[in-house]
Amino acid sequence: MKIQISLLFAILFVHTKSQECDPALIQEIRNYRPVAELIIEEILHGASKGLCYEKLAEFVDSYQLRITGSQVLEDSIDYLLEQYQGERSVMDNTWKESVPNLPHWTRGEEEAFLIEPVHKSMSILAFGGSIATPLGEPLVAEAVVVTSFDELRSLDASQVSGKIVVYNQGYVSYSQSVNYRYKGASEAAKLGAIAALIESIGPFSINSPHTGVMTYAEGDTKIPAIAITQEDAEMLRRIYLTGERIVISVKSNSQTHQPITSHNLIADYNGTRYPDKVVVVSGHIDNWDVGQGAMDDAGGMMIGLIAVEVINSLGLRPKRTIRNILWTAEEQGLLGAEHYFNTQKNELDKFVFVMESDSGTFDPQGLTYTGDRRNGECIIKEILSLLGAINATRYQWTSGSVSTDITHFTDAGVPGAGLWDTDGQYFYFHHTEGDMMTVEDPNALDRAVALWAVASYIIADLTDDFPKPSPRTTN
Ligand SMILES: [Zn+2]
Repeated sequence: MKIQISLLFAILFVHTKSQECDPALIQEIRNYRPVAELIIEEILHGASKGLCYEKLAEFVDSYQLRITGSQVLEDSIDYLLEQYQGERSVMDNTWKESVPNLPHWTRGEEEAFLIEPVHKSMSILAFGGSIATPLGEPLVAEAVVVTSFDELRSLDASQVSGKIVVYNQGYVSYSQSVNYRYKGASEAAKLGAIAALIESIGPFSINSPHTGVMTYAEGDTKIPAIAITQEDAEMLRRIYLTGERIVISVKSNSQTHQPITSHNLIADYNGTRYPDKVVVVSGHIDNWDVGQGAMDDAGGMMIGLIAVEVINSLGLRPKRTIRNILWTAEEQGLLGAEHYFNTQKNELDKFVFVMESDSGTFDPQGLTYTGDRRNGECIIKEILSLLGAINATRYQWTSGSVSTDITHFTDAGVPGAGLWDTDGQYFYFHHTEGDMMTVEDPNALDRAVALWAVASYIIADLTDDFPKPSPRTTN
């Protein structure tokens, strides 16, 4: 028994030992406390206070509908390029990178009415990529209302053929429920449906349809795919269960045009000792053709821009380069980020760390991190411990993606972090007319800038490169 206990202790000791942080590294990060305090003071009480909100409002009010393929998106990219290259810019080198062969889809006129058994107008938004109703004219048909793919598949083709399928699938989580947006039309078309009206992907609604990208499966018949509101989806289901015949008129004349070229915008704040080593601080510049994309994702992008301005305003310059990247065509399937990754994947050694904020810029809580779980995890936790003044000390680790556009990098083993905020209301506004500056708060934005500035500066300034996971492990 005694032997067994000592063996157990030996095992525990070895295990604990393997998780221990390098004391010298911990001390190195603790030495950044005065710098972290300086950054926080500058943003909360200095000249940079409120700057992020001000610049974000100016940007989104000037360039509202930055959908891929629009002139507004390209103008907004050029506007920020000019800002980055202007006399007052703090960046050393800024360039646009062409991203070819991107989808160009435009929304046309759209409207929908419940015609039978009662008359009611319905708020709708066609999903990006959807085809129009035939000739862009109203399509009038009887509707079948289901709550799941399983229920749909339990129906006979004769019950669905020639009809409109309405989905009232409810909201579980974004990642699960979004499958109805992606695949709802194709699944309905398999049974001969002529259009799919899909409950918006969101946990809350004030009659608000949510758009977003959809796809047709290879070889499937294409039918229109259109978002309806949670309220209308539930109302239609209630009527359907009474057995009454439902007739809907829906019109959409959206169009898919020839593929276009857009641009990622890249701006470097050069490092002093290892300028070729890069810490990426990013967000996406495109949005949908509704609202202003203030939280998705102009806010996420803007905190990165302002973070570097603040670092510069304090006379700070890290050893490695901080690279702002404003991704294009995120909403079309992370296409700007995918293109950039493909151009860089043979030089991943120079990417020390990647960061993105794309879950809103509400009250920052801390960081979600993926990467090395020994010294890497220690570094992130120690950095967060310097952020008590802005209450952003929370840490969570994931083996999966920490943020949309940087997923290709983190999947390839580059450590990364996403902004963790109180995103409880993010999906209330996501891809709706409600994603306006009204959802943004100047104080929350300032704290997000402070978190971003402290984290990116320290990671870019460490004596040694941020540790990369040796083969990817989860222990
Ligand atoms: Zn986004």
